[in-house]
Amino acid sequence: MPKLAQRIGRAKPSAIMQVAEKAKRLKAEGHDIISFSIGVPNFLPGAHVYAAARDALAKDSGQYGSNRGSDAMLDAFIEHIAKIGLTGYGRVNVATGVGAKHVIYNLCEALLDEGDTIVFPSPYWTSYLDIAEIVNAKIELMPCPASQDYKLTPAQLDAALAKKPRVFLFNNPSNPTGMVYSKGEISALADVLVKYPDTWIITDDIYNRMVFDGVGYHNFVHARPELRDRVIFLDSLSKTYGMPGWRVGFMAGPEVVAQAVVTMNSNHITNLPEVVSAAAVAALCGPQDVPVAKCAEFQAKRDQVMAVMDAISGVVCPRPQGAFYVFPDISVAFGKTHGPSGLAINSDVDFCDALLEAKGVACVPGSAFGEPRALRISYTCPTPQLAPGLQRIQEFFAELS
Ligand code: PMP
Repeated sequence: MPKLAQRIGRAKPSAIMQVAEKAKRLKAEGHDIISFSIGVPNFLPGAHVYAAARDALAKDSGQYGSNRGSDAMLDAFIEHIAKIGLTGYGRVNVATGVGAKHVIYNLCEALLDEGDTIVFPSPYWTSYLDIAEIVNAKIELMPCPASQDYKLTPAQLDAALAKKPRVFLFNNPSNPTGMVYSKGEISALADVLVKYPDTWIITDDIYNRMVFDGVGYHNFVHARPELRDRVIFLDSLSKTYGMPGWRVGFMAGPEVVAQAVVTMNSNHITNLPEVVSAAAVAALCGPQDVPVAKCAEFQAKRDQVMAVMDAISGVVCPRPQGAFYVFPDISVAFGKTHGPSGLAINSDVDFCDALLEAKGVACVPGSAFGEPRALRISYTCPTPQLAPGLQRIQEFFAELS
């Protein structure tokens, strides 16, 4: 048989999907499973989004579309980000992709030659590492453990950027930790960034509308407008609008970077589908009551999860202020055995396996995100399942010895 490319040897299937698959299989076998695993928002967009899609279908142009995205979608996005203070972007600064993941993939292809360095904080969203490995970049991690609230410090950033990486990738609010950087923290990091003009800055901020406690969303360009010619802001419809399967992602940033992504699109996908683009315009420009209500619901669910985390002795869990994840450090359980099942726990993977087997609760091991002392709880499940799922986690801890 002919050989596959070396690149594919570096590509891995998503660790998160593997947990989700196992949970699905157990459920199909009749087990009572509560899933805190996959990062889906678990709600649907408003009726106006479907109406726009149906309308576009009826008016199908029969043509290919623009590699950058339809003008209406670009304009809707430009208006959308102006509402979070990202102003002054024109169509030439914007590009679209089949989800933010695709935009990140295109950016890695466009900005990194083989062997160039990309630096990002750890814990990180799994795909950052996987995509960087596929494009054969050198990966530098900045470890941000629970003891520093999973947040990057200016000193860490300074030390990493002094080595002149090509790309610094930042994620706020964070998946998997749910942590959100305050205005002051963003400003202190931005002060470091201005010192290193050779590094591109990608801010993957797709959860920017899901921020709690009045902290607000802040970007480096708010703090230091001179960073505009290096900051690439990412957004997506997936989480904000309950549209993960529609696959719409955006970037706004320097013209040359947007053009590079457009060029990649012209060779990969040609364009986002007309029907999807019309739905995107409706989501961005239409009533915002669904995303606003969901943000409030997630804040209340965060409180519910944190009340349980805080009550489990030995678990260290920085309080998230955004997205829909909680990321407790559960290393207190290592070296113990779960009494009723007899399962030994020596790692995050053991912990998640035992929790799923013994209690039917699916969480993702932290090692999928570069932090093997933790696990990720995604709390968007139907509300009636949340309290029982949390209770099972609490019982599981109580049964360790
Ligand atoms: N960035 C982060 C931090 C994410 O959590 C996700 C989705 N899990 C993405 C990007 C990709 O989102 P999309 O569905 O737009 O590809």
